[in-house]
Amino acid sequence: MKREYHIPTSSFTEEIAALSGGEVIEKCIQCGICTASCEVARVSERYHPRRLIQKILIGKRKEVLESDLPWLCMTCRLCEERCQEGVSPADIFQLVRALAAKEGFVPKVFANAVDLVLRDGWLLAASYSDFIEDEREGMGLDVDLHWDDTFVQRLKAMFLGGA
Ligand code: SF4
Ligand code: SF4
Repeated sequence: MKREYHIPTSSFTEEIAALSGGEVIEKCIQCGICTASCEVARVSERYHPRRLIQKILIGKRKEVLESDLPWLCMTCRLCEERCQEGVSPADIFQLVRALAAKEGFVPKVFANAVDLVLRDGWLLAASYSDFIEDEREGMGLDVDLHWDDTFVQRLKAMFLGGA
């Protein structure tokens, strides 16, 4: 018997389906297994992968791109492992994040993290305290992590096209 799939009804669905990794979004039958499998959904009442996919399917482009929810996916792919329809919410939310970033919608907390990496070369420079240094020394580890601007400059050149 020929299987009928959900037919994309929104231009946002078609936009995602045209991108590598989003092709099968229209196969989502809204079963909710992804949400039931998701560790983030377990700890956050706001986060529901099924509901996010549904918003894409019905064309809530602005709402989805301006939301911080797609940024909460930690790309663990548990949902993808269990989805019976071969849909990957992880891939879809990555595409959504890329689109959102392109259009200037990056949640402040994530933008700040990127700024920190570009400034310091890593996220935790401020927390690299004397205490940690002593601990490393006690374990016989090098206390000088040799962070310098070279790494940051390389990152900038690679991703931002300039030093
Ligand atoms: S598990 Fe798959 S088919 Fe079910 S709601 Fe999630 S993405 Fe859609
Ligand atoms: S990949 Fe994202 S949506 Fe899927 S289970 Fe992991 S955190 Fe949840």
